[in-house]
Amino acid sequence: MSLFINTVYSNKEIFLRELISNASDALDKIRYEALSDPKKLETEPELFIRLTPKKEQKVLEIRDSGIGMTKADLVNNLGTIAKSGTKAFMEALTAGADISMIGQFGVGFYSLFLVSDKVQVISKNNDDEQYIWESSAGGKFTVTLDEENEKISRGTILRLFLKDDQLEYLEEKRIKDVVKKHSEFVAYPIQLVVAKEVEKEAVPEEPEKAPISEDKAPKIEEVVDEEGVSEEEKKEGKKIQKIKEIVNELEELNTTKPIWTRNPSDITKEEYAAFYKSISNDWEDHLAVKHFSVEGQLEFKAILFIPSRAPFDLFESKKKKSNIKLYVRRVFITDDCEELIPEWLSFVKGVVDSEDLPLNLSREMLQQNKILKVIRKNLVKKILETFGEIAEDREQFDKFYTAFSKNLKLGIHEDAQNRNAIAKLLRFNSTKSNDELTSFADYITRMKEKQKNIYYITGESIKAVEKSPFLDALKKRDFEVLYMVDPIDEYAMTQQKEFDDKKLVDITKDFELEENEEEKKSREEEEKSYEPLVKSIKEVLGDKVEKVVVSYKLIGAPAAIRTGQFGWSANMERIMKAQALRDTSMSSYMSAKKTFEISPRSPIIQVMKQKVENDEASDKTFKDLTTLLYETALLTSGFSLEEPHSFANRINRLVSLGLNIEEEEENFESLKTEDVEQEPVASENVAGSAMEEVD
Ligand code: ADP
Ligand code: MG
Repeated sequence: MSLFINTVYSNKEIFLRELISNASDALDKIRYEALSDPKKLETEPELFIRLTPKKEQKVLEIRDSGIGMTKADLVNNLGTIAKSGTKAFMEALTAGADISMIGQFGVGFYSLFLVSDKVQVISKNNDDEQYIWESSAGGKFTVTLDEENEKISRGTILRLFLKDDQLEYLEEKRIKDVVKKHSEFVAYPIQLVVAKEVEKEAVPEEPEKAPISEDKAPKIEEVVDEEGVSEEEKKEGKKIQKIKEIVNELEELNTTKPIWTRNPSDITKEEYAAFYKSISNDWEDHLAVKHFSVEGQLEFKAILFIPSRAPFDLFESKKKKSNIKLYVRRVFITDDCEELIPEWLSFVKGVVDSEDLPLNLSREMLQQNKILKVIRKNLVKKILETFGEIAEDREQFDKFYTAFSKNLKLGIHEDAQNRNAIAKLLRFNSTKSNDELTSFADYITRMKEKQKNIYYITGESIKAVEKSPFLDALKKRDFEVLYMVDPIDEYAMTQQKEFDDKKLVDITKDFELEENEEEKKSREEEEKSYEPLVKSIKEVLGDKVEKVVVSYKLIGAPAAIRTGQFGWSANMERIMKAQALRDTSMSSYMSAKKTFEISPRSPIIQVMKQKVENDEASDKTFKDLTTLLYETALLTSGFSLEEPHSFANRINRLVSLGLNIEEEEENFESLKTEDVEQEPVASENVAGSAMEEVD
């Protein structure tokens, strides 16, 4: 961490945002506790955040009347070094992330060391004595019972000992600017202690004059000269003695009226952005915002934001499942209410303020609350509406899709009710749309007259699928095929199944390709004439494949391996194998059922057919070639090889033949049995005949 503390970094001001946000969280917590036990607030009824610059000591104090920390809390919560976020944050920084992202990693407290050498955290929780935690960065800290400082009724004071080059954070104007910029929408008053120099007149018989207060200003204007001595006084010859006195005043820096209660048309884009940043820890503007209210049987207001980027821990399982803050009649209740939004939308940030929910909501109540269910339904509807709006702007949508396509696909998998609406947002590359992504709807407009289904191919990458043998027959018919190369695509499509009454068909699995009478007839004839070859191949491959068929869905490639309609595809098998913690019992009945398809249009297959007819099916070469065909088909169809070694041996043997090198074993044999001098001749013969067979 010291690495970042000492950086030359121009945006150090964000430390104040982080500390104010912690103070605000602490206030939220005590207010929430007090909902069920109002006595907890009695120790300090006023909820506030107070900034006190102490110029002589070069100290900036940030105080809140929040929940405070017990001794144990101080040790556990502020020992930042041990937190997982520290590591993640440091990694992100090395990868080029910005320091202002610190809040996202749950180590925002530490940002205070950007501007200070040392910090004292004085804290008082209702359940403990007042303790003082002290640290000069570097991971070491001390905690002691606080007997030297003034007693706080409840809450925390952060006493920052500013670095010599950071004294600007003691200046009233600087503090005001930073608070305005980053913390405008904090729901508690942020007070700045400003020292006002007040001139007091040391004339005993005259009453004290209020310095600025308007209503106390004298009704009749007096004519006063520069020194503040009135004409009248001059006439009287009285020279009044003045004493300068420093008075501390509290100035409130933020408007605490919640932004969601305001009229959307009065709120500027900048205000939304500032609010978004204050609730999200994001340093970038949001991509889209929806501010709305629902009235009628149920009443609530909400502001929902779609971020511009995915957070670093988007799919981490321990992460919070909701980023929506729930308020009830302006009182903050929780920011961890899973019932408010489905998991696939957990990246949406915002606030919901309900008029109907009871204030003393417990966790259990949240779980079965009917009002909450209705709110959730409305939120999802509005969010989908927002996505639709984003989709109208190509550039915006690209950004959105890059960040959150996985969430949409998760939504397809999980959210049966909204599946079709989400499917409209999906985009893929395809055989006809290589540079730009295309939607199902656009695909349908390009469908051929005879085409019944929407075709897609699954695989590891576009490179891996774009030359797949499975594409040939569809390309020949000019049918478009979508590329689905994101692992989650497979999961999503098993749920989606169709779009706009068109079946979604994975062409790596078994399916019926549209054919006319003529095609059907010639296929059936071919199937008959290839029966003997099919039988011989099945004998060679044995249990490796479920069945062998003559395929009218292959053209150029001699063979391919297709899987059954209901099991896993080759791609799914690959994905499942890659999952370390998968349940292996699944694989036995789900694992791909392989059909070995051969193409009668391939010269290789035609020659093999002849071989069978010439009764050469039991030759070693035939067996070798069949196995080799099977293994290469595994590869081109997206499977991995079970025995890469024997495959490599077979290929090496072919390479040797091509180079006229005799195989070592045979060399050995010939050395044993035959005359050494004859060997070169023999070698040529062997190679020659073998090559013929291969051709
Ligand atoms: P985060 O706010 O994301 O949890 P921080 O590093 O900002 O991470 O803060 C760490 C923890 O320290 C907080 O979660 C909270 O428990 C505690 N904390 C920090 N500031 C305060 C405060 N002013 N009052 C009470 N607790 C605080
Ligand atoms: Mg924080």
